[in-house]
Amino acid sequence: MTDLQTLDKTYIANTYARFPVEVVSGHGSILTDRDGKDYIDMGSGIGVTAFGIGDAAWTEAVTAQLGLVQHTSNLYYTEPCVALAKLLCEKTGMKKVFFGNSGAEANECAIKAARKYAAEHKGPEYSTILTLWNSFHGRTLTTLAATGQEHYHELYQPLTPGFVHAEGNDLADVAAKLREHKCAGVLLECIQGEGGVRVMDKAFVQGVAKLCAEQDVLLMIDEVQTGNGRTGALYSYMNYGVTPDIVSTAKGLGGGLPLGAALLGEKVADVFTPGDHGSTFGGNPVCCAGAVSVLRRIDDALLAQVREKSDYIFKELTGAEGVESVSGMGLMVGIKPAKHTAAEVVQKCMAQGVLCLTAKDRVRLLPALNIPMDLVQKAVAVIKAACAE
Ligand SMILES: *Cc1c(COP(=O)(O)O)cnc(C)c1O
Repeated sequence: MTDLQTLDKTYIANTYARFPVEVVSGHGSILTDRDGKDYIDMGSGIGVTAFGIGDAAWTEAVTAQLGLVQHTSNLYYTEPCVALAKLLCEKTGMKKVFFGNSGAEANECAIKAARKYAAEHKGPEYSTILTLWNSFHGRTLTTLAATGQEHYHELYQPLTPGFVHAEGNDLADVAAKLREHKCAGVLLECIQGEGGVRVMDKAFVQGVAKLCAEQDVLLMIDEVQTGNGRTGALYSYMNYGVTPDIVSTAKGLGGGLPLGAALLGEKVADVFTPGDHGSTFGGNPVCCAGAVSVLRRIDDALLAQVREKSDYIFKELTGAEGVESVSGMGLMVGIKPAKHTAAEVVQKCMAQGVLCLTAKDRVRLLPALNIPMDLVQKAVAVIKAACAE
């Protein structure tokens, strides 16, 4: 083990199983380690550096704002935060935005908005939030309760009460749970990311949306991983023809700086009043300036390129030797290897200079949206060989 790795193990809380790669610098979709070895970055953090490392427009936007003021507080107005909120609303049709710093914080806001709305419109007993088994919504005690994976729950009882889970792609189960519990909202990922790149069916998501509308239960879509162009649409729900009441987003939004947002639709636009909710760092002007530069560039032309690269990846890997199946949408791809574990494939790819992620039994790819096609081709060749051998 190198000195850096020993010091990391000594001083950093033992919550991450890191790969033995010491990243020093990068450019676009290339990361360079301490020994000068280059890697093709097929993870972009975990879907965070939407336009890669050191993207010129993002860097310029961020440094320009840094030169003006790096933080105020939410007691004052700042331009980038308003510009970003306006852009988010114009591009989605949502009405108002609350800014936090992470996906978990965006989901916390969504849950609070749903509970307050339900308390005011139906009564405080309508507090239950329905989520799906195998979902992932964050690490805070409340978003952990929302996360439908019991192994994450075991060590941290008691969690926030008021969450129930239904099977994904099982509309009858959702309908039954909505009958059994007094629900404020349904929170779901259209494509479960950490849960193994599991795609929800269109009929299922539309069915849930219909049930929610009929019962005045808020439809909340967790777009933390799927959002900001990842699936070939600006937000994944746009592939499903539904209109959510609340959208949570983070990861790719800030382009690499911490930023989360809860987008509030018509029903909940005015649910909060001053003092109801807040976040010291939320809406930081530097993060928001970077996010404006990210969001402005996620246009139809870019989304078409995302879909084109996606088509190439799916075509190359589907049915390839040693590949059992390929799931996902856009540049959110899950590959189930037939001969090896996902971790073994990731290990082999790393040795060949390609960094991939895992999600459950799948190799997960979340490259930068603007990854050049030649790097996609090189990475896919390496992944294919690792699966086949
Ligand atoms: C990563 C993720 C979260 C949590 O985001 P943090 O920024 O780590 O709090 C929530 N929901 C989904 C779908 C995610 O992928």
